[in-house]
Amino acid sequence: MINIGDDASDNRRGVELTERLPGLRTTIGRHPHSAGEPITTDERHELRDLASHPNVVAVGEIGLDYHFTDYHKVAKREQQAVFRQMLGLAQEVGKPVVLHTRDAFPDLLTILDEFPGTNGVFHCFSGNSAFAAEALARGFYISFAATVTYPTAHGVIGAATIIPLDHMLVETDSPFLPPQSRRGQPNAPRYLVETVERLAALRGTTAADIGQATGQNATALFRLNHAG
Ligand SMILES: [Zn+2]
Repeated sequence: MINIGDDASDNRRGVELTERLPGLRTTIGRHPHSAGEPITTDERHELRDLASHPNVVAVGEIGLDYHFTDYHKVAKREQQAVFRQMLGLAQEVGKPVVLHTRDAFPDLLTILDEFPGTNGVFHCFSGNSAFAAEALARGFYISFAATVTYPTAHGVIGAATIIPLDHMLVETDSPFLPPQSRRGQPNAPRYLVETVERLAALRGTTAADIGQATGQNATALFRLNHAG
């Protein structure tokens, strides 16, 4: 299981959790929601120290989110600056990235292409088959959350049906995005099975097959056999 870090408030706590819970790994992120402040030299040193920890398997969540709301208003240029800094950090420590993107796919790809050799995952994939093809062309994995269980998520359902199984991952995004049978309730990791069953039905295979493949993919991408 991989915990996700979003910013300084939970990056270090995530690392501490991995030291208490065997089998847990974590990531080090600077989410676009908290990209309003540039990364200072001191913070960069701290991020690099954390990202080098053997239980940290990726740099993320990082990315671009142009879905502006009252709660979330960080200027595009500020998000892009932090995103570039974090992609540079990922290259420096040689770890994959966990990408968050909403309403910003073209800009995200443009910046990603400035960092050749970067690999990772599009987390909580919300695009369609055309976006999935762009991600796959760059060697990235595509991670599906319970949005794939929502009957109206046509683009996501289409992508989940056709992408190669060897580039698929699954996740919860909990406490957000509960599966269809639990809409309106907080999500939890144990509900992941509903997402896996839905993927299996879409692809005409078994939940066990999806589980085995996505487990292997996560082990390969995040090098889980080599982590401390
Ligand atoms: Zn996200």
